[in-house]
Amino acid sequence: MRIVMLGAPGAGKGTQAKKIAKKYKIPHISTGDIFRANIKNETELGKKAKSYMDQGMLVPDELTISLVIDRFQEPDAQNGYVLDGFPRTIPQAERLDAALKKSGSQIDFAINVDVPDENIIQRMSGRRACVKCGATYHLQYAAPKKDGICDSCGESLILRDDDKPETVEKRLKVYHEQTQPLIDYYAQKNVLKEVDGTQGLEDVFRQIQAILGE
Ligand code: ADP
Ligand code: ADP
Ligand code: ZN
Repeated sequence: MRIVMLGAPGAGKGTQAKKIAKKYKIPHISTGDIFRANIKNETELGKKAKSYMDQGMLVPDELTISLVIDRFQEPDAQNGYVLDGFPRTIPQAERLDAALKKSGSQIDFAINVDVPDENIIQRMSGRRACVKCGATYHLQYAAPKKDGICDSCGESLILRDDDKPETVEKRLKVYHEQTQPLIDYYAQKNVLKEVDGTQGLEDVFRQIQAILGE
């Protein structure tokens, strides 16, 4: 099962992608997590990506596409995956399709987690992230057991630099210009599925399970 998660920054793609990965036993591939791990390890890629991410801009396609295509070659990705944060531009989606076609496969579901812009700022300002293991929390909606500490690995939680309101507005603008067109792109391929992302975490997941099957 090959799944693409669509939706604005903060819509809940990562939260749902983790649940999908667990239930359907496929890897969760998040380009944002891959970039943040590279930034943490101070790699060349990390240094380049950081300058774009901090400004709320997209990392250029040439740095992003090969990264994802390489990840697909790994053994755990042979029976499917859930892509979170990729593709984010039409050229990325076209390159993804071309690579899949070569191996005789295709995207089975593009799940659009629909959340209006008004709700996004609140989602983002309450988001707390663990840079060590990638877990995500929310101060109101998904609080960690112990304040400021990751439930899964014990690391301190952070407010991502790019989750500050100024940067969130920029990211929303970039989303509408460059990423939202993917909704039509996947609709034309007859794989688009819409879910109402304003509901609670578990209700959103129930909608997704109804699409993917038990
Ligand atoms: P969110 O989950 O809030 O949408 P991500 O963790 O997916 O954020 O992405 C954080 C940042 O990483 C983006 O704002 C962008 O700068 C960069 N990024 C992630 N994925 C891509 C991609 N597919 N193409 C370009 N830039 C990306
Ligand atoms: P994305 O990957 O699309 O950027 P996340 O999954 O990181 O979004 O979610 C953004 C923030 O909103 C996180 O703090 C997360 O805990 C919270 N969140 C996710 N889904 C919901 C939901 N359905 N209701 C309330 N808060 C949510
Ligand atoms: Zn952690």
